[in-house]
Amino acid sequence: MRIVGLTGGIGSGKSTVSNLFKAHGIPVVDADVVARNVLKKGTGGWRKVLAAFGEDILLPSGEVDRPKLGQIVFTDPDKRQLLNRLLAPYISSGIILEVFKLWIKGCKIIVLDVPLLFEAKMYKWTKPIIVVWVNPETQLQRLMARDGTTAEEASSRINAQMSLDLKRDKADIVIDNSGSLEDLNEQFREVLVHVKNPLTWTEFGLSR
Ligand code: ATP
Repeated sequence: MRIVGLTGGIGSGKSTVSNLFKAHGIPVVDADVVARNVLKKGTGGWRKVLAAFGEDILLPSGEVDRPKLGQIVFTDPDKRQLLNRLLAPYISSGIILEVFKLWIKGCKIIVLDVPLLFEAKMYKWTKPIIVVWVNPETQLQRLMARDGTTAEEASSRINAQMSLDLKRDKADIVIDNSGSLEDLNEQFREVLVHVKNPLTWTEFGLSR
């Protein structure tokens, strides 16, 4: 089974590209979905986070108040690191389980959509690695429009992540999503050909 890595920066267009893969019948394992599941009330991840952050981060229902936790970790790098460290093992095993289920089903190509593909070293499982890049101004504008946040909030979220240019440098294939959706679709069609045909990978200097 070929596991294609898909990553990028916040608001760079990963989900948009991931939807294109799904629309072309290629299953996607979405790390954000896995991450939501590992924080569900009563799970191991939920218990760890509760022990580290206290009951203040819970809603009356006992579920984690995600926006509140998000606010805490985005303004405090140490807490962000702590949260990542606590949840990383649960997220990795959740992702492995999803990959395994698709392997059992006989899928030949799947996509791993993981925002922290490099940071969590999961890029080692994937080939080719696709990075969805966008220019900084467009990234800021799209993030503000999507989340209804100020430029300051959006910038602090962008700056809390590994630089998108650094991710681009580590990619096998870069999709530049600074243009229109039509532009994106056009690039995607070409990428899809390469993803499906390893014989074309030498064009990217990739070994098979
Ligand atoms: P996150 O990491 O926050 O989940 P993401 O990388 O998955 O973000 P998307 O949600 O796919 O990014 O895209 C961010 C926003 O930009 C969305 O509102 C999306 O509809 C919009 N968008 C993505 N690509 C384009 C494009 N080429 N033209 C216009 N809008 C776009």
